Amino acid sequence: MRNNYFVKLIKYIKNVHYIDKKFDKLKDGRVNPTYKTKQVILPVLFGFLLRIKSLNQLNFMLKENEFQNLFVKGTKLPGIDTIRDTLKVLNTDGLYNANKSIIKKAIQNKTFINGTIDGYTAVAIDGTKFFGSYKKCCPKCLTTVIKGKQYYYHSGAVMSTIGDGPKLVIDYELYNPKMDWSRKDEGEINVSKRLLTRVLKDNKSLVDVVFYDALVCNSVWINQCIDMNVDTIVRVKNNNNKCLRKVKALANKSESVAVWDDEKGIEKIEVYERVFNMNDVGRPLRFVKFAIKHPDKRRSQIMIVTTCMEMSLKTIYKMIKARWIIENSIFNNLKNHADLNHCFVHGGKAVEAIISFMFIASNLFQLFKVRRIKNHVPIQIELLRLLFKGMYLLKYESKLIFDTG
Ligand SMILES: [Zn+2]
Repeated sequence: MRNNYFVKLIKYIKNVHYIDKKFDKLKDGRVNPTYKTKQVILPVLFGFLLRIKSLNQLNFMLKENEFQNLFVKGTKLPGIDTIRDTLKVLNTDGLYNANKSIIKKAIQNKTFINGTIDGYTAVAIDGTKFFGSYKKCCPKCLTTVIKGKQYYYHSGAVMSTIGDGPKLVIDYELYNPKMDWSRKDEGEINVSKRLLTRVLKDNKSLVDVVFYDALVCNSVWINQCIDMNVDTIVRVKNNNNKCLRKVKALANKSESVAVWDDEKGIEKIEVYERVFNMNDVGRPLRFVKFAIKHPDKRRSQIMIVTTCMEMSLKTIYKMIKARWIIENSIFNNLKNHADLNHCFVHGGKAVEAIISFMFIASNLFQLFKVRRIKNHVPIQIELLRLLFKGMYLLKYESKLIFDTG
């Protein structure tokens, strides 16, 4: 097989991202373990790179010795119980650092040199739930009542790039039930503030614009972005506060500032905008409304508030569209993974570990697909098929081996 994509992928994660060396540093809290940490977690990474649907599937792959050619001959790999036990006591800081260095490498390799949308590097923050269950819970679970029954879940904010290039998960932050209020909007703002602060500390000049949904359309979030010197675009919904209702009314009464047909010529877009002052925000903001006429005569509208005073209307609209795409592709892709109860390992560090692995695997996969093989196989499911095929045809070769010695 001339084009073994699995071989290419393994070489890529070893030679460009030094996964072999990085995973040497990972530690866990098992007492007298039979298997080293790296021996336990490499199969988890391979599993997530191949988008396994459940830990059970990983178990079958281990039993069939499907990863054997990636280890020194005679290396025994753990069963699923050991994997579960290890994930519960894994030092997740090590995983966090692994993702951080993947992102740093991507930046260093000029992945975002031209931005992701019209020269800007744009990211979106999504609030999301993970690992919901009526039965399993841990001290870090959030709870709610659904149909009279106690429901447990974890929740977090995830920041990912939008627009051109690989869709990378830059970082995530989980709700901490002790620190974050239970009211959804306040809690999420707290979590997102921590997330944004850390991202900007880790990667000073990566992010130009943060896109966020209507939950944070308020002075707390906007001031946070102004303080941190990063621009934000926030969706506006109908039930917002007084100054937003006022600017909406003013915009509705004014003439449209631009009209254009969308690139494909199927939608007609009319744009209204006003500069206004939001209570408790020390500088003027821009309100923009896009009124969209769809080909089937249906009408819809999108309203945003932004600190980007100079950005062109078309660029703002491109960001809104890019944000829709991410909602429908990579992010759901990951969420659907996380929702699978089969991947469920609860307790200790397991939830954080699983989420980190999914993001690390997704980032490596995206970078491989877009940067290394230049979208030569553009359809994800087809690339996955070729990766599986490559894995089955893999011959033992010393440069492909992960060292667990
Ligand atoms: Zn829990």
